[in-house]
Amino acid sequence: MIRLAKPNFPEIAIEKAIEVLRSGNLVQGKYVKEFENLLCEYLKVKNAIVVSSGTAALHLAMIALEINQGDEVIVPAFTFPATANVVEAVGATPIFVDINLSDFCIDTLKIEYAVTARTKAIIPVHEFGQPTKMDDIIKIAKKYKLKIIEDAACALGAEFENQKVGTFGDLGCFSFHPRKAITTGEGGVVVTDNDELADKIRALRNHGIQIIDDKIDFNYAGLNYRMTDFQAVLGLEQLKNLENDIKYRIQIAKEYNLKLSHIDWIKTPELFGNRRMVYQTYHILVDEKVNRDKLINYLKGNGVEVNYGAYALNCINFYKKKYNLTKDNNFHATKAFISGIALPLGNHVQFSDISIIVKIINKWGKDDN
Ligand SMILES: *Cc1c(COP(=O)(O)O)cnc(C)c1O
Repeated sequence: MIRLAKPNFPEIAIEKAIEVLRSGNLVQGKYVKEFENLLCEYLKVKNAIVVSSGTAALHLAMIALEINQGDEVIVPAFTFPATANVVEAVGATPIFVDINLSDFCIDTLKIEYAVTARTKAIIPVHEFGQPTKMDDIIKIAKKYKLKIIEDAACALGAEFENQKVGTFGDLGCFSFHPRKAITTGEGGVVVTDNDELADKIRALRNHGIQIIDDKIDFNYAGLNYRMTDFQAVLGLEQLKNLENDIKYRIQIAKEYNLKLSHIDWIKTPELFGNRRMVYQTYHILVDEKVNRDKLINYLKGNGVEVNYGAYALNCINFYKKKYNLTKDNNFHATKAFISGIALPLGNHVQFSDISIIVKIINKWGKDDN
């Protein structure tokens, strides 16, 4: 089986994680700090606060920015549902805006139609590792005085006009789930240049605790969203190799683009001159005539692990029911959801695997289509 994604721990990371386990100092230790420092250096941002998941990062962002009941938050209609679930979690209302099929990110031309007097924030998602057009997002946020929380869960290392995504908004959130570029099992981080927000998030991840003048007090009704030290060391050691890993992912993606280009019922990802796409996921669209689910089963049956890329939120049960949505509400999101496939990508994928995968896809086109 050619796996869709596979964690890639350097041996040193595993050894150091075991060392932490043996030491008995499992939480808030030196590796949490080291991992945070290296993230700051890599992203060129002042503060990084590691937490227990990407969803925890987004949830803390909502709480820190005081997004509450009655507020509206603009979210792309095509994403992993966590982006909208955290808005629900604080009692606010997610407003779905359709995406572009060229980059699978929010269609920035449609955002202004969704802004109301209640709109508090925008959460652009850098889907599959492709940067959102942050220049447009910033313009709109300034015009309507909206906060920006970047959901960069799958875009560590991606750049818009030579600046790392996650560092444009008020807050940026990343995930270290096993499907992402580096993994701590479960994990995430919030980054920001705003020291005040950073202090608040540091307290919120740790029960609301702050130490002021050597005195501990609980200044917020915080949560426990801390990352353990043995997780942090796994992240730290992988982060040191991330640039090489990204370069490899880009090469593999190029090979896919080349080899799939002659299959007329497949649309490969588009590239943009001012954006660095890191291919967290290699996501293709198949023609409407193709039965996508049948194709997925066929590929799995032939030893190629594939899956859906992301979800149209207007098509999943909770949001469909709660807000009376249908597949027609966000046309592009629905199409990406119905016709999208994520192909295997990562360090474990060899160039020879691409030939095998493309050969299998070609055969399906001839025999079954
Ligand atoms: C993975 C992902 C999340 C959730 O991250 P977890 O670490 O799994 O909680 C949120 N948003 C997007 C866009 C993601 O890809």
